[in-house]
Amino acid sequence: MENRLERIKKQMHAQSYKLTPQREATVMVLLEHEEDHLSAEDVYLLVKEKAPEIGLATVYRTLELLTELNVVDKINFGDGVSRFDLRKEGANHFHHHLVCIECGAVDEITEDLLGDVEAVVERDFSFKIKDHRLTFHGICYRCQEQPSQEQHSQGSKQLNEQM
Ligand SMILES: [Zn+2]
Ligand SMILES: [Zn+2]
Ligand SMILES: [Zn+2]
Repeated sequence: MENRLERIKKQMHAQSYKLTPQREATVMVLLEHEEDHLSAEDVYLLVKEKAPEIGLATVYRTLELLTELNVVDKINFGDGVSRFDLRKEGANHFHHHLVCIECGAVDEITEDLLGDVEAVVERDFSFKIKDHRLTFHGICYRCQEQPSQEQHSQGSKQLNEQM
């Protein structure tokens, strides 16, 4: 994680930005919660634990800057909340997401599955693709394994009748 922080620091320096202590605290929170798809408010509450003097406006500005510098991607899963997601190292395009409509879990597909689609779009529409967002909405494997509440109570009712 230290190395990753160093590389982000270099990336910022290359574009003439300093990794100030407040910015560093924000980046650390994003690194520590890489899987979590945090909103600006979530990030703020976690940064505050490290740097109590920091204000929400500073966290907002830092997140906007990191978005501009391509360190993080901003994404909205349809609930109107912008979430901040660290860009995977070495990835040219944004990773894909699986959003569960039952439990709200967000899983990631880090492999870019769109190669063939990109080729068609670039060829047929003469469009040079720079990035994309792909979010699947459905039911995650965990929810598929769990019998739903309704089925569960029916099951225990049957059991009671047998007894
Ligand atoms: Zn993600
Ligand atoms: Zn792609
Ligand atoms: Zn689920």
